[in-house]
Amino acid sequence: VFITLEGSEGVGKSTNLAFIQHWLSERGLQPVMTREPGGTPMAEEIRTLLLQKRQETVSDKAELLLMFAARAQHLDTHIIPLLTEGRCVVSDRFTDATYAYQGYARGVDMSWITQLETLVQSDLRPDLTILLDLDIETAFKRVARRGEADRFEQEKTDFFDKVRSGYLDRARQEPDRFAVIDASQSIETVQHSIADVLADFFDT
Ligand code: C5P
Repeated sequence: VFITLEGSEGVGKSTNLAFIQHWLSERGLQPVMTREPGGTPMAEEIRTLLLQKRQETVSDKAELLLMFAARAQHLDTHIIPLLTEGRCVVSDRFTDATYAYQGYARGVDMSWITQLETLVQSDLRPDLTILLDLDIETAFKRVARRGEADRFEQEKTDFFDKVRSGYLDRARQEPDRFAVIDASQSIETVQHSIADVLADFFDT
């Protein structure tokens, strides 16, 4: 089973990943937690390169190819072997993030993303994608509270609006795969909703 967690900055991805890990572990599912970009030593090196990109100009095409290079390595050497063994893999971001950030927000041609998705993943897609959705203003306040406001200032509010609406668009296109959670609610309520989604998915 392949589960992904998606959302823009400040939506509570880290806290809720820990909750998902706990929920699955309690039920004996022994989840393997991973992340993108990254997840293997080489893919983590590519992540470092990508996150440094603000000090150095990287073309949109180069960024996209690096994302998918990291993803190919992550899939072929880590995720696919685990799924073949029957393990439950949970990834903090996956290809929906590429559509939202590189496609919807940076304006990279969607057909390039679709072509690379087919090349790198064939027909592999997440079985379940949990999208934490939050308005930009609340997200900004949360990020500012933990002293990481620069993560927002580097980009414009407009950028994060596009990321958010891109994710929501993806969710509308594939309603069976996506579970959209309103992340503006209290942490308890959000986790309750996530638990309901997981229980429904695993039919427990
Ligand atoms: O998931 P996390 O918040 O750790 O992501 C690190 C950074 O990478 C974020 O600032 C996010 O905006 C960026 N990112 C991106 N394009 C992606 C995935 C992540 O720009 N496809």
